[in-house]
Amino acid sequence: AEAQLRQVQKMEAVGQLTGGIAHDFNNMLAVVVGGLELAKRHVQTGGGAALRHIDNAMEGANRAAALTRRLLAFARSETLMPEAVDPDALIAGMSDLLDRTLGDTVSVHTEGGSAGWRIWVDRHQLENALLNLAVNARDAMEGRGALTISTGQATLAEGERSECAAGDYMRITVADTGCGMTPEVLDRVFEPFFTTKPVGKGTGLGLSQIFGFVRQSGGEIAIQTAPGAGTRVTLYLPRHHGEAVQPGVEAAVAPASPA
Ligand code: ADP
Repeated sequence: AEAQLRQVQKMEAVGQLTGGIAHDFNNMLAVVVGGLELAKRHVQTGGGAALRHIDNAMEGANRAAALTRRLLAFARSETLMPEAVDPDALIAGMSDLLDRTLGDTVSVHTEGGSAGWRIWVDRHQLENALLNLAVNARDAMEGRGALTISTGQATLAEGERSECAAGDYMRITVADTGCGMTPEVLDRVFEPFFTTKPVGKGTGLGLSQIFGFVRQSGGEIAIQTAPGAGTRVTLYLPRHHGEAVQPGVEAAVAPASPA
């Protein structure tokens, strides 16, 4: 039933693709074409503004390319290549990228609690998911605030979440001090193409893609949020039961239930 639901959601998404995405995509390409035309004129007349126009065009092109990548990742049944990943090491490896993405006026904190536990996930998909969550946090904070990424051991008890088997999980929590969400927005965040952002800025694919990745990995996603109170997104991902990196660290902590 779950696979069917996903299939229906995908088909709906593909249906909306033509309208919504073509619109966004054309706006981005208009920036590219406009920028290049202006640049050409300035290069011909020897003006110094050419560089700026070329930069604008590049930015538009990059956004268009990013959109097609996200679309492709969403549309094709992404084949996951899971491996044993230490989430703290993965997050540490992203720190430069996160600093650059968040900018100078947002502080980034990490609280590593994996204690040698590893998770069984596709590394690139997880990096992608965390970057998407960081971009959402940045947008919600309008350039000012704090982003905290923490990890810890967690156990999802059987029955606690309907389709989740009992077992050991790790959690990765991305918390921001941004605007938070109303219950109406929270209700719809996993819908493909649902966005509250202006055309050209949001695609509405970020959280639906993360949802798909987490569920395909055998995990769960929980969001705690309220208007004005910031947002915490927690990914629960299955633990890798291969050889332990630090044998003896086995204490499992129950996750705080979402508010
Ligand atoms: P997009 O970011 O392109 O809009 P997403 O699927 O990632 O697409 O997010 C959907 C919507 O959920 C956003 O437009 C925004 O309204 C809301 N949202 C997501 N993350 C946050 C957050 N950290 N804080 C507040 N609102 C958020």
